[in-house]
Amino acid sequence: MDVETFVISISGLLGLMVGSFSNVCVYRIPRGESIAFPGSHCPNCNHDIAWYDNIPLLSWLILKGKCRHCSLAISARYPFLEMLMGISWALLAWKFGPTSMLLEAIVLVSLLWILSLIDYETGYLPDILTLPGVLIGILFAWWIGDIESSLLGAVLGYGVFWLVATLFFLVTKKEGMGQGDFKLLAMLGAFMGWQALPFIVFTSSLVGAVVGLAYLKLSKQGKDTEIPFGPYLAMAGMLWFLWGHEILSSYRSLLFP
Ligand SMILES: [Zn+2]
Repeated sequence: MDVETFVISISGLLGLMVGSFSNVCVYRIPRGESIAFPGSHCPNCNHDIAWYDNIPLLSWLILKGKCRHCSLAISARYPFLEMLMGISWALLAWKFGPTSMLLEAIVLVSLLWILSLIDYETGYLPDILTLPGVLIGILFAWWIGDIESSLLGAVLGYGVFWLVATLFFLVTKKEGMGQGDFKLLAMLGAFMGWQALPFIVFTSSLVGAVVGLAYLKLSKQGKDTEIPFGPYLAMAGMLWFLWGHEILSSYRSLLFP
């Protein structure tokens, strides 16, 4: 096996295991529970989950998605997030190879998947993830990036959404966006610099609006239904992180042919 294949395989396997831990984060962080203690247990019958019932992907398949003791259905989010992390980590290793960029990519993408799923399930983005995320983004920029763009990105990321939300509130007297969205955009700005913000804001708003309207239409829910915005921000952020250079140069060739 050559070095490249080895790095991709190890990365994919580690991703599966971190995916398993990420499920614990997605379940416990919004409930204010510790992510370290106690060990995994069934939320219904409280039985501890043995290591052989806690193997990423395999255990869920073997147990057919049910608790071994009480047969409570285990959400498909568990194998989904494990697979998502495994595949993401392997693809990132394939794109970046064994570099410091790979480490940054893995940290950013994993945080974004966890935040997206928490926002999707609960409708909020916990500070305990976004605020350290801002700091981690700045540290990576200081180490291998551009610290000035990063600091400016964090401040502008928060500021732009704050301004939009404040204006929206003044005009409509309704809250349009959550505080969590400001902090997530600050985190994305910290990781990728202020240059990433126009693309992220534009793409996430556009996709969010299209999907949101389609959802309201199909589900026939009232206009006040809140649709989490975090997943759109996260997707747009990932696109920029992976293909920002290509996106920038196609902007340039569009504007200055
Ligand atoms: Zn159980």
